[in-house]
Amino acid sequence: MALLSTHALTAQYGQFKALFGVDLHIDPGECVAIIGANGAGKTTLMRAITGVLKNAPEMIRLGGEPIGALPPDRILQRGIAMVPEGRKLFPSLTVEENLLIGGQVRRGSGRWSLDDIYRLFPILKDRRHSPGTALSGGQQQMVAIGRALMSNPELLLCDEISLGLAPVVIRDIYAALPAIRATGAAVILVEQDITRALSVADRVYCMMEGRVTLTAPAGQVTREAIHAAYFGAA
Ligand code: ATP
Repeated sequence: MALLSTHALTAQYGQFKALFGVDLHIDPGECVAIIGANGAGKTTLMRAITGVLKNAPEMIRLGGEPIGALPPDRILQRGIAMVPEGRKLFPSLTVEENLLIGGQVRRGSGRWSLDDIYRLFPILKDRRHSPGTALSGGQQQMVAIGRALMSNPELLLCDEISLGLAPVVIRDIYAALPAIRATGAAVILVEQDITRALSVADRVYCMMEGRVTLTAPAGQVTREAIHAAYFGAA
């Protein structure tokens, strides 16, 4: 059974429809990339899954159970954690305080401790007493990932984790992915960097104008298919 599935998922902002019947699934431990141009609806899909946007219960299922109408804190308790676009750290709190906040909603006996996060991103241990504002963009992204992991998620949603970062920093952040997947967690990567997304994901979904236009195993998808799914051109 899929870990998470969406069924004809719709979303709108006021009168503006942003998702038109999205069907998606991710299996336990799987890594799925979601790609698509600006405005395709990727972030809206993440907001819907995390309960920030309201849904009908049956539109989203976790382990077969309808969770579409649950509020964000309950979704987090059920094991879906988000690394939001723009990181959204608490700027006046230190690295360690940000991480500990992530651990306030913890599931199970805990796969992730503070020490585990510091092993994953050693620079954060050196900077653990620094406020969020004193960190580089890459370090902030590491804190945002660590904060989400501290809830021991079954599914980690990463929204544009490479956005605005230097290639060498992106490489360091992506180097953490195998350790995260080794805990058995499934990962959804919303990515603008298609090459990188395809190099790490098992499967890819492409979205355009609020719809899924392509889903394929990452190793089999062609450049032409992606181009068509991205821009709607054959
Ligand atoms: P990006 O890569 O730019 O983040 P995206 O694929 O994540 O793009 P969304 O942010 O989900 O796209 O936006 C989907 C559509 O919904 C866009 O047309 C966008 O303008 C609109 N939209 C997003 N957030 C809001 C909002 N708060 N109010 C109104 N419309 C919104």
